[in-house]
Amino acid sequence: MTEQRALSKVSASLAKSQSAPSTPTARFVLARALFRLLLLIVPLALLLGWYSTSWGRAFGASASGADLERIQRSRHYSDGVFVNTLPTPMTTGSTWSMLWRWGFGTEARHPPGRLEFPGVEPATFAASPASGLRLTWLGHSTVLIEIDGQRVLTDPVFGQRTSPSRWLGPERFFAPPLALRDVPTLDAVVISHDHYDHLDYETIVALAPVTQKFFVPLGVAAHLKAWGVDSARVVELDWWQSALHAGLEFTATPARHFSGRGLTGGNRTQWAGWAIVGDQHRVFFTGDTGYFGEFAEIGERLGPFDASLVEAGAYDELWPNIHLGPENALRVHKDLRAKVLMPVHWGTFNLAFHAWSEPIERLRSLALTEHVKLAQPSPGESFELSKSLPSSTWWKQPPAAD
Ligand SMILES: [Zn+2]
Ligand SMILES: [Zn+2]
Repeated sequence: MTEQRALSKVSASLAKSQSAPSTPTARFVLARALFRLLLLIVPLALLLGWYSTSWGRAFGASASGADLERIQRSRHYSDGVFVNTLPTPMTTGSTWSMLWRWGFGTEARHPPGRLEFPGVEPATFAASPASGLRLTWLGHSTVLIEIDGQRVLTDPVFGQRTSPSRWLGPERFFAPPLALRDVPTLDAVVISHDHYDHLDYETIVALAPVTQKFFVPLGVAAHLKAWGVDSARVVELDWWQSALHAGLEFTATPARHFSGRGLTGGNRTQWAGWAIVGDQHRVFFTGDTGYFGEFAEIGERLGPFDASLVEAGAYDELWPNIHLGPENALRVHKDLRAKVLMPVHWGTFNLAFHAWSEPIERLRSLALTEHVKLAQPSPGESFELSKSLPSSTWWKQPPAAD
C-alpha cells in the first residue's frame, strides 16, 4: 500500500512538472512585461538624450588632417594629449571624499532663488567708451571687453546649462543679462578651452554671423568648424603665439588645467589664457588655471595690464592644481602686474562645493588687506576703468526673479 501511494505521488509530481512550461507563473509574466517595457524605454531615453545634445553636435569634433599635424608639432603635445608645464594631478583626494562632499556638504551652493538683473541696454555698445576701455560682465567667464575701439567677447556661454544636454547639468543662477540676439557685432571672440562652461555649442552657432574672428587654443578649431564656423575666421594658436586683428594683438598664454567634452577623451585640445593688447590698453583673461610660475613671465613679457580677468571660483582643496581660488587669484593678478582685478568664473553656476558667494567675499577682504583695486560688477553692469569701480555687494541681497 505504502509503495503504491509513493508511486502515484511521484507520477503526479512528474505530470505537474511536465505541464509547468506551458502555464507561466504570474512572476514570469511580470518579468516578461518589464523586459518588453525596458526594450521600449531604454532606446527611447537614449534617443531623447541624444536629441537633447543636438544629435551629438554639442560634443564637438576632433582635429584631423593638417589641423592634427599642426597639433602634433606642438611641444606641449605628447602621446596624443596636451600636457601642462608642471605635473598636474586632477585631484588630491579620493573619489569617496568627493562623493561625500557632493552628497552631504551643507554649503549654500546656490542663491536662495533664481536671480534677476535689469540687464544691459544693447544701445550701450553702439558707441565706443570715451576712455577706450569698458568691461561688461555677462556672468561666469563671459566678459564683453570694449578696448581701443574694438569689441572682444571672452568664453561666451549664454546657454541654460553647462552640459552637452539641454535638460541635464548645472543650471545658471540668472538669465544672461544681455540676450544672445542683442550681442553687438564682435571683432573677436576668445576661447580659453573646450569645457562646457566656456564653450557652448548653441552660443557659438548664434554668434558666428556677428563675429569676425574666433581666437582659440590648439585643437578647439575642430569644434567650431564642425558647428559651421567658416575656417577662415578661426585662428588657432599655441602658447606664446600671437596674431593681429583689428588693431589688437591676441596672444595665447600657458595655463594649468585640462580639457575635454566627454566623447572625444580628455586633453585632446589645449587650454590657454589670453592677452589682448591694443594701442592704448591691455587686458588679460586667465581662462581656467591653477597657479604656476608662468604668470610672472606673462606679466613680464606682455604686461603691465590695465585689467586682469581672473578666474576665482570653482576651487577646492581636493583639486588645488587646476583652479586658483581667491588667494591665488590675487597672486596671479600681482604677477600679471595688472591695475584692476575683476574676478570671473563665479556666481553663475554651481560647479564646486563652496558657497556660491564665497569667492567674492574672500577676494574682497584679501583685496582690502593687500590694497588691490577690485571691480565687482553685478551681472550686466558696464563700467569704464578710468572711472570709479563698481563696488555694490549685490550678492548679499540678491534680486530674486518673480
Ligand atoms: Zn575648465
Ligand atoms: Zn570653468
